[in-house]
Amino acid sequence: MKLYNLKDPNEKVNFSQAVKLGLGHNQGLFFPKNLPKITPNMLKELLEMNFIERSSKILELFIGDEISKNDLFNKVKAAFSFYKPIMKPITKKISCFELFHGPTLAFKDFGARFMAQILSFLNQHENKLITILTATSGDTGAAVAHAFYKMKNVKVIILYPKNKISKLQEKMFCTLGHNIKTIAIEGSFDECQTLVKMAFDDQNLKIHTGLNSANSINISRLLAQICYYFEAFSLIENKYQKNLIISVPCGNFGNLTAGLLAKSIGLPIKSFIAATNANDTVPNFLKTGVWKPKKTISTISNAMDISQPNNWLRVEEIFKRNNWNIQQLNYGSVTDIITKQSLKELFSLNYISEPHASIAYTLLKNNIKNNEYGIFLGTAHPAKFKQTVDDILQQDIPLPTSLKKRVHLKLLSYHMKPNFSKLRSFLLGD
Ligand SMILES: *Cc1c(COP(=O)(O)O)cnc(C)c1O
Repeated sequence: MKLYNLKDPNEKVNFSQAVKLGLGHNQGLFFPKNLPKITPNMLKELLEMNFIERSSKILELFIGDEISKNDLFNKVKAAFSFYKPIMKPITKKISCFELFHGPTLAFKDFGARFMAQILSFLNQHENKLITILTATSGDTGAAVAHAFYKMKNVKVIILYPKNKISKLQEKMFCTLGHNIKTIAIEGSFDECQTLVKMAFDDQNLKIHTGLNSANSINISRLLAQICYYFEAFSLIENKYQKNLIISVPCGNFGNLTAGLLAKSIGLPIKSFIAATNANDTVPNFLKTGVWKPKKTISTISNAMDISQPNNWLRVEEIFKRNNWNIQQLNYGSVTDIITKQSLKELFSLNYISEPHASIAYTLLKNNIKNNEYGIFLGTAHPAKFKQTVDDILQQDIPLPTSLKKRVHLKLLSYHMKPNFSKLRSFLLGD
């Protein structure tokens, strides 16, 4: 697989380099040089396979012979073994595709676990220390921490905005210890992300620590996420497949990028909705053509509190490469007030959701046309946002075991101002 840097097309790398580097020069994102295409016949075959088999075929189309078929299959199996396909019908024409039944109860388990498998596979003969440095707005941290937990030669450092993620999210990954270190940064997610980018610009630091990011900027995470769009498609009744519209709750726009890549290689999804909360840089851009990030606003859908979404350049690149018009992308932004109403509405339809998916639901409901079938992505388990969900619905929703186990554990996080030289010393320490 060949990839190039979107900011410097002269920088070309293969898949394993892209996975190890995370980002290219000038903080540029890597993007595949060739986008594979599947024929309708191949699509038919793929849709008949089981999830692991199919996912491994799809990833093979991108990765090529850099990893043998057999190794790739085994890694995919190890990464995705937790998977249970759950498509919950909400109304006659709308379902929620639940992606949150993995170890950390969010869709990020797919990308993080695949990346962990690939990285440890690529590193198995080198015996070098890898430092995973990641910024999280809530769920990435947990997924990455669990995916790399106790892995040999890997040290994980996770930055998150202090007091801006839910208590249970924090318990999920700041209580692990061993090779997992967490730092509560006194600032916003965007500040955490900036610190990570600065670390990647520091060549010396990079070499000394074997720095790698597991953010959705890492191409391996995005590729992994393509796989579940095929699964969603396969779970829809034939008669609806032609008119399928998928609403994606967006933060850093990795999930949407993966969906668009699925469409680009030949999964016939009719259209997507980019759903954001009040952090509406993209909806505003699509409306006015002006890219003008505002200061990040805290909302009840905190995993989407991002005003400078990293993956947007990849989204634009996919549109360009396919000669699609960016105006075909549906979009919308939803306030907290509407998010709460929508959560209540879903509850009245007998479905307990959480703020992120509720945003996608609302925009889907408002945009869907008569002949269309709609799916919104359930990106996290409602129990991860228990306090918020309980307050809004006046319920006491039960915690799944994976969370219950952690609630009483002590938080092990360090605290830090958003100061790069402090972070640098921390990374160079033991
Ligand atoms: C990360 C996250 C999102 C946003 O996904 P992106 O790929 O960053 O756009 C949405 N919902 C939840 C629950 C998340 O954890």
